[in-house]
Amino acid sequence: MQRQLFAPGEVLIDEGAVATKFFVMIKGQLEVVKSTEGDDHEVLNIIDQSGELFGEMALVEDTVRSAGIVARKESEVLVVQKEGFLELVNHFPQFTLEVARSISHYLRKTDSTLISTLELKNRELNSIIEELNATREALVDNERLSIVGRMASTILHDLNNPMTTIAGFAQIIGSKEMPYEDVVKYTRIISQQVNQFNTLAQELLAFAQGSSTLQLQELNFPVCFGDSAASINHNLEQQGMQLVTDFKGEALIHVDPNRFYRVYENLANNAIEAMSSGGTLSISSRVKADRLIMTIADTGHGMEAEVLSKIFDEFFTHKKHGGTGLGLAIVKSIITDHNGEISVESVLDQGTTFTITLPIIKT
Ligand code: ADP
Ligand code: MG
Repeated sequence: MQRQLFAPGEVLIDEGAVATKFFVMIKGQLEVVKSTEGDDHEVLNIIDQSGELFGEMALVEDTVRSAGIVARKESEVLVVQKEGFLELVNHFPQFTLEVARSISHYLRKTDSTLISTLELKNRELNSIIEELNATREALVDNERLSIVGRMASTILHDLNNPMTTIAGFAQIIGSKEMPYEDVVKYTRIISQQVNQFNTLAQELLAFAQGSSTLQLQELNFPVCFGDSAASINHNLEQQGMQLVTDFKGEALIHVDPNRFYRVYENLANNAIEAMSSGGTLSISSRVKADRLIMTIADTGHGMEAEVLSKIFDEFFTHKKHGGTGLGLAIVKSIITDHNGEISVESVLDQGTTFTITLPIIKT
């Protein structure tokens, strides 16, 4: 063994060199350094405890040095040549245990350093993901606003008709004596027009609100479907139609129940309108991997491919009196806001099936 002094900056071990020596710290401070890209290097560890062993790893493994060691402050160490080291290992079990302990300590420390580095990276990654999500939401909101803008101008255009009608009838009612039945007839037309406009305004508002106003709750499906089912059933029964439900499997989902109610309501209303001569609305669900799959199927008149391809467009309405053409556009935007998907299949004169998939919360 040799006592040796190292001045600050002096190299004890070169990274990549063949290992020939083993060291014991007496006093001072050393850095364990590893070169990184370019000419840079990273300090992996500090050695400053009297009695600390170092340089044993490459000797034990009989390989080259995986990192270098440089004096940070003036340091005094004991230097043992490889042969001396092996002799110590062979004759003193206590020494061998110390070497093993030193290696084990170093491995543990490296482990926890790696874990905290990983945690840090993870946090960085999460904040980047949050930022990305915020940007994506802003983009979606922008897109939504531009659609709302287009909608608003169409609505203002459409508003001309009911307003002209309302103004006209109001003028007739006010301008001459007329039988009571006529007054009733004209005021009914006026209130119909106003109602139609109100529906349009409400649907536009619902669409404009977008995901920013989602009040998500963690709910069990099909339990959370109960209220909607009752009200859909009521509407169907009034028209002499029936609702059949078949829910297979339960799942927790994130939903805004009020917004989602609009989905069922719009789909059921369309189905009712398509089944004017009676029929059945079947709602079923199943769980597949991490998705909840719902189907809403009617036995109505169905659609031609031409119609089918446009039904989710805003303002697309077909063969309907008083349709706003917003129902399915709203349905789609609500489903998208819930990170879900909606698709449709339809056979003319047989019926239409909508399929909705939603992510399930993992438990
Ligand atoms: P609206 O009902 O106001 O016309 P929607 O967006 O709800 O607007 O629907 C668009 C069009 O899609 C409807 O006008 C109708 O022609 C067609 N449609 C929607 N659902 C069905 C259905 N279940 N069966 C047949 N046609 C449908
Ligand atoms: Mg509709």
